[in-house]
Amino acid sequence: TLSDRLGGVFDRLRGRGALSESDVRAAMREVRIALLEADVALPVVRDFVDKVTEQAVGAQVLRSVTPGQQVVKIVHDALVEMLGAEASELALDVTPPAIMMLVGLQGSGKTTTTAKLAKRLSERDRKKVLMASLDVNRPAAQQQLATLGEQVKVATLPIVQGQPPVEIARRALNAAKLQGFDVLMLDTAGRLHVDQALMDEMKAVADVAKPQEILLVVDSLTGQDAVNVAQSFSAQVPLTGVILTRMDGDARGGAALSMRAVTQKPIKFAGTGEKMDGLEAFHPQRVAGRILGMGDVVSLVEKAAESIQVEDAERMAAKMAKGQFDMNDLRAQLAQMRRMGGLGALAGMIPGMKAAKQAMASGAVDEKILVRMDAMIGSMTPKERAKPELINAKRKIRVANGSGTTVQEVNKLLKMHQEMANAMKKIKKMGGLKGLAAMFG
Ligand code: GDP
Ligand code: MG
Repeated sequence: TLSDRLGGVFDRLRGRGALSESDVRAAMREVRIALLEADVALPVVRDFVDKVTEQAVGAQVLRSVTPGQQVVKIVHDALVEMLGAEASELALDVTPPAIMMLVGLQGSGKTTTTAKLAKRLSERDRKKVLMASLDVNRPAAQQQLATLGEQVKVATLPIVQGQPPVEIARRALNAAKLQGFDVLMLDTAGRLHVDQALMDEMKAVADVAKPQEILLVVDSLTGQDAVNVAQSFSAQVPLTGVILTRMDGDARGGAALSMRAVTQKPIKFAGTGEKMDGLEAFHPQRVAGRILGMGDVVSLVEKAAESIQVEDAERMAAKMAKGQFDMNDLRAQLAQMRRMGGLGALAGMIPGMKAAKQAMASGAVDEKILVRMDAMIGSMTPKERAKPELINAKRKIRVANGSGTTVQEVNKLLKMHQEMANAMKKIKKMGGLKGLAAMFG
């Protein structure tokens, strides 16, 4: 496994402080091989490795995991972030009909996925769905969709022989409007390779139908070609998302990363079988595990994450013992909150933070606010971070401008920091580390 291989690279390193550039580079050679073996396209591998190298150099080696495990964690987290940072709902919130168009190479799974999605929308979201096949190239293509429609109990547009795709699209649009459908799904003709005539046809259909969603359907077994596919389709039509099919097979998940990197669009679903219920929300964690090619990656990552938290907490405790708590510490806490999707363990214990914790639980403080706070701290100078009391009115304006926030928000952040710092001092009075350790239980 990647972890074993990294073990060799790092044997010398254990307990030697920060990951050096040369150690990280050696590790990244192994990571690179793992990514290529998982079918991630070469240019994407390069970018990814560069980005992660930058993040990993200088990272502290934790006592309780090996440097190899720590690099796996860094790589894993970077993969997850890249694969699925944003939410990926379908755009249904429009004046009906919401129009979705599926595009992709021949055999990628467009027709199957059209029917699977239609089933999901009609059963789970109680939408009235109409499907239409615009594939006039393959003789039985329109019938294939009609048959699937019967199977999933979703209406399909009646077949009229000899109509060109743009005409079918117009007819479908009219039918959907007149008959009060909520969603219209357009299944398009496939392409064996990227071919201009079919690309033009696809563009013409998109111009007529003006779909809310243009979803690129890609076979997850696509290897190095993924970059070409993604580039040519996204150059021709404004894609809104990607659907990866055949994730039930032995694909290593590399296509997911390539697609995401090239299109910059969310991967919205994964096809997981030929049957009509073989469609799932996309799980970045699982795919990251597949790409790294190890069954134990999740437990490994959990172990690393746990020890990172323990060491963070210990570092924080040491600061508290001295009654110190600056913006860097607050930033670390915010990052931890984001990781945990709630307030960090430490923050939860701090009296001034109780209200914040409740607000978070009730959804009033969301991820976006944490991101904005992080941006504000990012716009402070190192001196300001170490000594927030330096931040006067003029500096507040600068920080607000630099982070795209308001002076009011900067004030709130400073107040929050002040409350936390005061709480730290109280903890110190209560007996510092020992008192804190008692609270940790
Ligand atoms: P199209 O040419 O893009 O419309 O592709 P089709 O929808 O006709 O699918 C081609 C083949 O792939 C069919 O045999 C499907 O059953 C199969 N297929 C599609 N999606 C999946 C999937 O997620 N998993 C598996 N195992 N097979 C799939
Ligand atoms: Mg088809």
